Amino acid sequence: MNHIITIDGPAGSGKSTISRILAKKIGYSYLDTGAMYRAVALVAKRNGVDFDDGKRLGILCNSLNLRFDKDGDPPRLLLGKEDISSLIRSPEIDMLSSKVSAVGEVREAMTGLQRKIAKGEGYVAEGRDMGTVVFPEAAWKFYLTASSDVRAGRRYEELLERGEKALKNIVKTNLKKRDHQDRMRPLAPLKPAEDALIIDSTTLTIEEVVEVMLSYLKQS
Ligand code: C5P
Repeated sequence: MNHIITIDGPAGSGKSTISRILAKKIGYSYLDTGAMYRAVALVAKRNGVDFDDGKRLGILCNSLNLRFDKDGDPPRLLLGKEDISSLIRSPEIDMLSSKVSAVGEVREAMTGLQRKIAKGEGYVAEGRDMGTVVFPEAAWKFYLTASSDVRAGRRYEELLERGEKALKNIVKTNLKKRDHQDRMRPLAPLKPAEDALIIDSTTLTIEEVVEVMLSYLKQS
């Protein structure tokens, strides 16, 4: 029996919040794979690793002591004993995670870790390549979209809530750049799986999107 539900989509499409709520409602765990790429970017930056050096990045990934503490809501991301959940949410790490995630050695290591984490358990896994590469056999695959204005607006509000200084037009430019990079990369690009259900959340509330998803799940 397959217990994986995948939710992919561009930045600001509402994936994280929706995945978390859906997981809670159906008693599954929640896997934030973007956080894992963000952690790699943070550690590579700390250690001064060249973001084009696939070999060193691969070694770094394989030595990372990364795990989610599921007692937190949302789950906290721990690097050894250090809680890096907030540190990985900066605009700088947004862009660096997109860069580092295009590297083959990094993707290989993270894909392996994601499959290991989700093995044998009910998981809602969100990211960019969950339905296409990491869990191609998932029971349900969703792809969330929204207009770029709405997505940039959500990201902007998120930054303000976190107490960051942000300019709306810069947030929008960076979001577009990141999505473009994520879509155009040769490895595991951002795109819907052929069998994914596409949901446009531009005019829907979070609760409405979750309801749409639940109505599909009830069909199984
Ligand atoms: O989802 P989030 O915005 O936290 O992801 C940060 C970055 O990590 C994305 O822009 C993307 O480049 C990368 N990512 C990825 N594959 C995933 C999840 C995230 O390449 N499954």
